[in-house]
Amino acid sequence: MQKCQKCNFQFSWKTLFWSILLAYKPIDCEKCGTSYAVTGFSRLWISIYTVVPLYIYGFMVAPRMPFSIYIDIGVMTSIAVFTLSIIPFVAKYSPELIPNKKSPLA
Ligand SMILES: [Zn+2]
Repeated sequence: MQKCQKCNFQFSWKTLFWSILLAYKPIDCEKCGTSYAVTGFSRLWISIYTVVPLYIYGFMVAPRMPFSIYIDIGVMTSIAVFTLSIIPFVAKYSPELIPNKKSPLA
């Protein structure tokens, strides 16, 4: 999982998870205050990673199975929970260019 590149602080799963769930909210190192944002490549990878398993199940597996819609929803929810819980381990962050400063235009 992501560590601070400056002070080696280990970000928690919870911090990373919520940062991704809240539309890739930047995170600050609790120790040295450096801001980190999810890299563009990582965002692309995360969207593929979360959508593809659901797509495969929903369009390729489920139509071939005699399961009821409730089982399909249950399986797809489990897949979503599983992929979301792994995301903090695969997301890559890089330090923001202007640490701890809000844009004057914002
Ligand atoms: Zn740090």
